[in-house]
Amino acid sequence: MSENKINCALCGLAVEIDGFNVETTEGLKLFCCAGCLSVYRLFNGDKIQE
Ligand SMILES: [Zn+2]
Repeated sequence: MSENKINCALCGLAVEIDGFNVETTEGLKLFCCAGCLSVYRLFNGDKIQE
């Protein structure tokens, strides 16, 4: 059991590397890789706060 395990907001895989995250209107989203992050940004650009 690992309570602090974070899963990618897009594909659901475990997030091993910190840094692929984005602040949205729904809160902070974390991703496993730059690919998932860019796909999320593509489809949810209106939610991203920058
Ligand atoms: Zn992912």
